[in-house]
Amino acid sequence: MEKSSDGNRNWGTSTICIHTGAVSDQQHKGVVSPLYPATAYNYLDVDIHAYPRYFNTPNMIAVSAKIAALEKGERALVYGSGMAAIYATLFSLLSPGDHAIFQNDLYGGTHHAVTSEMKRMGILYTFIDSVDEESLVAALTPQTKLVYVETPSNPLLKIIDLSLVSKFARAHDLISVIDNTFASPINQNPIPLGIDVVIHSGTKYLGGHSDILSGAIVTSEALIGRIREHSVNFGGNLNAQMCHLLERSLLTLALRVRQINQNAMEISEFLYQHPKVDAVYYPGLSSHPGHDIAKRQMAGFGGMLSFEVSSDPDEFVRKLSVIRPAMSLGGVESTITSPRLTSHAKIGAEGRQKVGISDNLLRFSVGIEDAADLIRDLDSAL
Ligand SMILES: *Cc1c(COP(=O)(O)O)cnc(C)c1O
Repeated sequence: MEKSSDGNRNWGTSTICIHTGAVSDQQHKGVVSPLYPATAYNYLDVDIHAYPRYFNTPNMIAVSAKIAALEKGERALVYGSGMAAIYATLFSLLSPGDHAIFQNDLYGGTHHAVTSEMKRMGILYTFIDSVDEESLVAALTPQTKLVYVETPSNPLLKIIDLSLVSKFARAHDLISVIDNTFASPINQNPIPLGIDVVIHSGTKYLGGHSDILSGAIVTSEALIGRIREHSVNFGGNLNAQMCHLLERSLLTLALRVRQINQNAMEISEFLYQHPKVDAVYYPGLSSHPGHDIAKRQMAGFGGMLSFEVSSDPDEFVRKLSVIRPAMSLGGVESTITSPRLTSHAKIGAEGRQKVGISDNLLRFSVGIEDAADLIRDLDSAL
């Protein structure tokens, strides 16, 4: 866990994307981080025993330093998937008999990991429908150790007040955790708002090109020590080649996300006024119930939005030509998915209705194409 170059604390986000953490090429003086694929390192006369699974090899240190700086946190660890990062967080910080509070509308994989793996390990949990003071207090038990949220949430882009969550966690001596994947570190930094642990599926915006499965945890020096100690046993670190590729992707993170924010705002305004669209969920719209909180805690409203079409949603998707039907999100290309057929298929029509997900709902991950082309594509399909 050697520290890489921290860069300058006053740097702006775009400069951090380019320069923080970069490994300097002493041998050839190239301007990009060299790739160190070794899994075997000398053990004599060195300060640390380097090994990829210990999270202490050069490309791991480099990409972790950049992600930590982007989230304004002290340290980061990078994993082979978002789920590996989530698993490492939960199972490093919780033990049998402990209790944790989760927001109900979590990423499907996380929800499933809680109800299957945590249950199997004898860790107790409560899901709460709305994350407010009253529900949090009601869910609290003497064994509660952790509270876990996601904002904006999937697929209705619900916004949770992060200051409220962190205040509650501090008051009751709990660790607060957020999955910050949907916002990206460019649009939302929960750590300065008092949240303890930030998780990302790096497969989404951090990677940004739909070709890197990865995950990250950002937190304090103290907590990262606890998580790393267990993660070394779990395995699950990202390998050197992928760390290097992820570092390359991060060079353009700020640029990509700014373009995505701008496109998503324009598109949500277009959809909002369209007669064949029944509803639009985007935190950037003043009609969105979470708009005021989003304005306070986010630097940009992000690239995820969802909307209900008044016609057959599958027919509509088939008519699109620029926007692709695909299950993941956060890439440079625009993709669209039907929660009814994918993430929320298992809970059935009744279950979906209960959580407010109409069968005509589509979730849209806005890419960096020209907004005019995306709008034309949507308009002609509508
Ligand atoms: C995709 C995703 C995950 C899981 O990440 P993987 O990289 O697929 O393991 C977790 N949380 C959110 C919000 C996601 O979108």
